[in-house]
Amino acid sequence: MKIAVCVSHVPDTAAKIVIGADGKSIDPTGVQYIINPYDEFAIEEALKLKEKLGGETVVITLGGESSKETIRKSLAMGIDNAVLLKDDNFRDSFLVAAALASEIKNQNAELVFFGKQSVDYDNSIVGQMTAEILGYNCVTVVVNLKIEGNKILAEREIEGGKEVVETSLPAVITAQKGLNEPRYASLKGIMTAKKKVIEEKKPAAGSNKLEILAMKKPPAKQPGKIIGTDAGAVPELVKLLKEEAKVI
Ligand SMILES: Cc1cc2nc3c(=O)[nH]c(=O)nc-3n(C[C@H](O)[C@H](O)[C@H](O)COP(=O)(O)OP(=O)(O)OC[C@H]3O[C@@H](n4cnc5c(N)ncnc54)[C@H](O)[C@@H]3O)c2cc1C
Repeated sequence: MKIAVCVSHVPDTAAKIVIGADGKSIDPTGVQYIINPYDEFAIEEALKLKEKLGGETVVITLGGESSKETIRKSLAMGIDNAVLLKDDNFRDSFLVAAALASEIKNQNAELVFFGKQSVDYDNSIVGQMTAEILGYNCVTVVVNLKIEGNKILAEREIEGGKEVVETSLPAVITAQKGLNEPRYASLKGIMTAKKKVIEEKKPAAGSNKLEILAMKKPPAKQPGKIIGTDAGAVPELVKLLKEEAKVI
């Protein structure tokens, strides 16, 4: 079975984000980029399935030259092949999904893993949109997965519990934390990944359906207020919690 994993290259969540001069993008200067954390669960599941069922794995990333770092990390973990859909221009989630779908079709992959969410723009829609474009079944926020023949049994995380669903291949699965424990790349894996060829392609063209008008930082936090340091401050504290903070 051919298994594809779509992986995004995102700013480290610890990075200090600065809005660019145009007011609608992130200034990438000095920002450390990493593999999207949810995509590591996607990679691990693809590797486990390949080890169990055989077949071939391919990582697909849409982005600029710097995305190759993330692709190499995926290869170092054990993914067989890599495709970079090279584009430095802004693409909205739909145009990202359209380009990924076109390459997945080209790869003839029956099973496709995504993270449940990209931690940069947090849209949580690329996997679902890709499934729709391909006409594949789709199960999201998966925390447990079993594949027997053509049948897929999955557990999804829902508020306060789990939902068990059944579907069939071809399918898109979006991975949630807890699906597995992503492996570390071995030294051998890192060395092998360095020698592997990353196939570069021009992604399918199209028009964005969404335009970013502005990016804004959250309002600065108000400084804390010290009302008193002994029990005498309690009545005033209760009054302020009721009337000002409106939390009681
Ligand atoms: C060059 C470029 C510049 C951009 N600049 C901006 C910008 O300044 N502001 C802005 O708001 N948006 C920007 N975008 C759009 C934004 O990066 C995309 O929407 C992003 O790729 C997906 O984020 P999301 O929140 O929609 O993904 P989600 O729907 O949250 O992602 C879910 C999953 O989809 C997969 N996935 C997502 N993106 C990719 C990818 N690129 N390649 C492979 N798999 C992927 C991953 O498995 C991920 O876990 C840009 C896109 C590109 C290509």
